[in-house]
Formats: sequence, C-alpha cells, structure tokens
Amino acid sequence: MSDKQIVLVTGGTGLVGRAIESVVNENCDELSSYKFVFIGSQESDLSNLYETRALFEKIRPNYVIHLAAMVGGLFHNQNNNLMFLRINLQINDNVLLMSHEMKVKKCISCLSTCIFPNHTTYPIDETMIHLGPPHDSNFGYSYAKRMIDVLNKAYNSSANNSTLFTAVVPTNVFGKYDNFNIEHSHVIPGLIVKAFNAVREAKHKGANSAKLMVYGSGTPMRQFIYSKDLAKLIVWTLKVYEEREPIILSVGEEEEISIGNAAQLVANAFSDEIKLELDFDINYSDGQYKKTANNAKLRKYLPNFEFTPIEIGIKETVQWFKQNYLVARK
Ligand code: NAP
Ligand code: GDP
Repeated sequence: MSDKQIVLVTGGTGLVGRAIESVVNENCDELSSYKFVFIGSQESDLSNLYETRALFEKIRPNYVIHLAAMVGGLFHNQNNNLMFLRINLQINDNVLLMSHEMKVKKCISCLSTCIFPNHTTYPIDETMIHLGPPHDSNFGYSYAKRMIDVLNKAYNSSANNSTLFTAVVPTNVFGKYDNFNIEHSHVIPGLIVKAFNAVREAKHKGANSAKLMVYGSGTPMRQFIYSKDLAKLIVWTLKVYEEREPIILSVGEEEEISIGNAAQLVANAFSDEIKLELDFDINYSDGQYKKTANNAKLRKYLPNFEFTPIEIGIKETVQWFKQNYLVARK
C-alpha cells in the first residue's frame, strides 16, 4: 500500500488546476511524498452533496486544494449573480463539510481580490475582506467566496475539528488552459481571442492592420498573476503555510497596470503577424476601478520569489492559444 499523502485538487481541469498539474509534473522528485488527484465536474458535481461525499469516499484525501467554482469575468458575473452565489455556496459548503468529516489535514480554498469591499482604503490586505459590500457587479460570487472565510473560521473554532482550514487570495489570473469564451471570460483571455479573430480576418482580407476591441475605458487598474506562478505558490502553501488566516498571492503593488496597458501587451504579442490598434468601447462597463492588493505577508515568507514578467506570460499564453485553438475552452 502506498504511504503517499493524497492531495485532492478540485477544479483540477481549470486554468489554475492545470497549472498546478504542470508544476507537479515538473517537480516530481521534490513532491514525491504526495499523490495529486485532479478532478473536474465530469468526475463529480460538487454542488451535489451525494456526489461530493462519493468522491471523497473514493479518493480519501489527506489534503484538499479546493479550486472548483463557477468562475467568470465581469460581464458573466454581472448577468448571473444569483447563479454565481448559489452554485458557489453549494460547492464550497459540500467540499468543506467533507474535508471536515473525512478529517483532511489541510483544506486550502481559493478566494479572490475581487471579493474585497468596493469602497475601501488601498492597498487591501488579508484583514479587510468583510469591511464593506463588494462591487455590485459580482456580489453573488463575492459573498459566496466570503462565506468560505466564514466557514473556515467556524470549522477552525469548532471543538471536534481536526482540519486546518485556510485560504489563498489570488489577484486576476491568466495563462494556458484559461476560458477563452468571449462572453464568459476574464479580460486577458477575452482580449486574446478577440485579437486572434481580428488578425485572422485582416489576413483573410489582405489588410496589414486591424483593430482590437477593448471593452470599457481601459482605465481600471489590475494586478495580474501568471497561472504558473500562482500554481507554484499554491503548492508552497500546501507544503509550508500553516496559518488559518488567508494569504494574498499577488505580484506587488508596483506591478499594477491599466486594462489599456494590458490590452497593448496582448496586441504586442501578435505584432509578428499584424499591427493591432486598440479601440475602446465605452458602452461596456469598467467594473471595479481597482483592487490594489498588498503582498507583504507573502513576501515575509518568500522574499525572493520571482514572478514571471507579465509580457512574457502573455506571449506564452498567446503562443499556447494559437497552437491549441481547436481544443481551447471557447
Ligand atoms: P476555471 O478555469 O473556470 O475552472 C473552474 C474549475 O472548477 C474547473 O475545473 C471546473 O470543472 C470546476 N467546476 C466548476 N463547477 C463545478 C462543479 N459543480 N463541480 C465540480 N467542479 C466544478 O477557473 P480558474 O480560473 O481555474 O479558478 C480556480 C479558482 O481560482 C476558483 O476558485 C476561482 O474563484 C479562483 N480565482 C480565479 C481567478 C481568475 O482570474 N481566474 C482570480 C482569483 C481567484 P470542469 O471544467 O470540468 O467543468
Ligand atoms: P474583474 O477584474 O473581476 O473586473 O474581471 P475581468 O477580468 O473581466 O476584467 C474586467 C475589466 O476589463 C473591465 O474594466 C472591463 O471593461 C475590461 N475589459 C476590456 N476588454 C474586456 C474583455 O474582452 N473581456 C472582459 N471580461 N473584460 C474586458
């Protein structure tokens, strides 16, 4: 019988789950005491308690990295707050209950900096999650995520609990295996697929330039983390992080850039094919203006962690998308 520690990764087929899988595969020796099991919704619908229980009874995990969620960009959230709230509440309640019942050693859930109060002081830190209502555009997702923090506190303070419930708080994530559906996606994959389509159409017409449609004014500010960097940090939390309180996993405040600048980086990643000019459509919402997060807590643990420069992350993601256009989620 194997004495490896079993790590169940929910949401294992998504952007972050796939990145963790690739980090695990690249570091087999270092992680040889763990056996990772990546699952998606096809293996188990975690919004259903019976399916969640059956999954946990089958896998019998020692650790849980809980990524599974209904996830989407600004516009998907704005149009579906009720679904984001209910499905995510159900998934989170089921996964945390099973982690508790099965006496998992550590359950690491995933929050997001977009769940923080809309009106706040900056930079935001881990202590500020509940200090005011979230931005109205994604209140469903935000309150469901905030309830993870509340559940963690309740389980951690319950007398018969033996699991360490904790959470990580990433900023905007992007990378390979993202969701490239224009209506549902976050901003970087949305821009990549729009750029890809604009380049293809221009080439078909024999044009040497094209427009890249950017929703909103381009002025909102965001910190972006490349999925592979986030994956390395989540594996680090599995091995090292023992605090109950959440930890922000983000690039520094100085790395925050405007949506317009992010769009320019996407356009640059196509410059070997064609010149893309940005075209801002202010009929679309800007969403939250900023959610500048402080990564001081992370830096105390890992002062030398090197984040991938965003332009390199975007180039690699564009390259991946071009090569995997037919299989990418769209
Ligand atoms: P993603 O690419 O959309 O992947 C979502 C994952 O959740 C998929 O594996 C999906 O499985 C699974 N899932 C969805 N509904 C499920 C259900 N009912 N039962 C079981 N599994 C289900 O999302 P992601 O970007 O990797 O996000 C991972 C985590 O990071 C989430 O908790 C998200 O809230 C958080 N986060 C993301 C961002 C970001 O910018 N993307 C930022 C901050 C935090 P299938 O694909 O098999 O259906
Ligand atoms: P957020 O960071 O949680 O607000 O979510 P997104 O990743 O969806 O980013 C939304 C911001 O990017 C808003 O300011 C949008 O107006 C802007 N944006 C520009 N183009 C796009 C696009 O193609 N898709 C999305 N989702 N947002 C876009």
